[in-house]
Amino acid sequence: MSVQKVLDNIKENSIQFVDFRFVDLAGRAHHITLPSTEVDADTFVNGVAFDGSSIPGFRGIEESDMVMMPDTEAVFVDPFTDHPTLNIMCNIHTPDGERYERDPRSIAQKAEEYLQTTGIGTTAFFAPESEFFIFDEVRYESSMNSSSFYVDSEEAGWNTNRKEEGGNLGFKVPVKGGYVPVAPVDQQQDIRSEMVRLMQEVGLRVERHHHEVATAGQAEINFRFDTLTKTADNLMLYKYIVHNTARQYGKVATFMPKPLFGDNGSGMHVHMSIFDGDAPMFFEKGAYGNLSPLAMNYIGGVLYHAPALIALTNPSTNSFKRLVPGYEAPVNLVFSKGNRSAAVRIPIASVTPKGCRIEFRTPDSTANPYLCFAAMLLAGLDGIKRKLDPVALGYGPFDKNIYELPEEEKKEIRSVPGTLDEALDALEADSEFLTETGVFTEEFIANYVAVKRNEAKAVAIRIHPHEYSLYFGC
Ligand code: GLU
Ligand code: MG
Ligand code: MG
Repeated sequence: MSVQKVLDNIKENSIQFVDFRFVDLAGRAHHITLPSTEVDADTFVNGVAFDGSSIPGFRGIEESDMVMMPDTEAVFVDPFTDHPTLNIMCNIHTPDGERYERDPRSIAQKAEEYLQTTGIGTTAFFAPESEFFIFDEVRYESSMNSSSFYVDSEEAGWNTNRKEEGGNLGFKVPVKGGYVPVAPVDQQQDIRSEMVRLMQEVGLRVERHHHEVATAGQAEINFRFDTLTKTADNLMLYKYIVHNTARQYGKVATFMPKPLFGDNGSGMHVHMSIFDGDAPMFFEKGAYGNLSPLAMNYIGGVLYHAPALIALTNPSTNSFKRLVPGYEAPVNLVFSKGNRSAAVRIPIASVTPKGCRIEFRTPDSTANPYLCFAAMLLAGLDGIKRKLDPVALGYGPFDKNIYELPEEEKKEIRSVPGTLDEALDALEADSEFLTETGVFTEEFIANYVAVKRNEAKAVAIRIHPHEYSLYFGC
């Protein structure tokens, strides 16, 4: 959309406010709102200033001035405000007009520009399946004061026979038993449908929604694939709508990867493919999974760099509580046609040239989508450049049940890192595939690792409730 079209849109739709947004290192959106009377063509040339030193992970106090530069391609009318408001996603620039090297959205755009210089293809497509939970609102004050704060071990062990207060209303979703039952077991069809309606209203093409495997309240809504930065923008919009619709229904939604011990967590599987113009580069009829050698090398790159990549695709301490065996989350650095415990899966839809794609199942929605998609693309492209063959490197294919493999074969299988710190160690040891392209700078990686190390430490030094079960009686 041209600047003039945005200005016309403001007039025609009686827009009263224009909301300028940017995304921080952690993938959270921030905004500054201008009355529409203050917005004109100059706003799109000069941008909107903000204080970068107040945003975690950005600049120091001595160099605080930053500028949001609006992207007229990323515009939507906010469905939640009382006053008609137009939202515009922005890139972050320094005051001298350069793209800020820590701006996630600029990094995503640089990754797309880099692809075009490789000669491998013109466009990379992404489609995330971002799962989440919808919970009743938690009132922290009351839970801190009530006896429920002290969770007894039976409850923590998910004793499904426990007596419920208020009577048993039946049709409950058992642990790991929530995959697509109809109402009255599924109590959240209406809230998911409302989320979808609002997503459609702001221009997302939604394909379906359903209850997910975990106990009451796990949901998934799928929207259509698009190019890298566009898909990251769409995911920001998706999360904004999920959170705010939940709020309107008196609920809270969370994308935290593992909110419930003992049940499935929430992943963000990401489907990827590369096209050269209209030509799908991942398809070769009759080959394993109908995948071309180029797609196999892409898989080789993703799996080879996975330990480092995971520092960007699974960047929270909670991420690693999801990546454990037994909950459909991937733990094995292998590829496979059907196996859900494999990090890379080739979906059944890969039988047609246009539908042919690979699915990286490791990521979760604590990832900053701009950094996550950019890093995955660079890992895959490095695999293509270096002709990394995932079969020769021992990554599979593993189409049998991995748990039933002979011990000897099982020993050969590499696993995802066990903690955020391990993933950060891997990123420090293997970041060239990100930096040699110029998409990520070394300074960015060093700052990112430092921010995330602090986060891991802040969690590690706190006393965990389970430590009371283990040690209080000593
Ligand atoms: N919730 C599972 C995960 O953590 C995935 C379930 C599915 O295959 O959709 O990745
Ligand atoms: Mg799912
Ligand atoms: Mg999936």
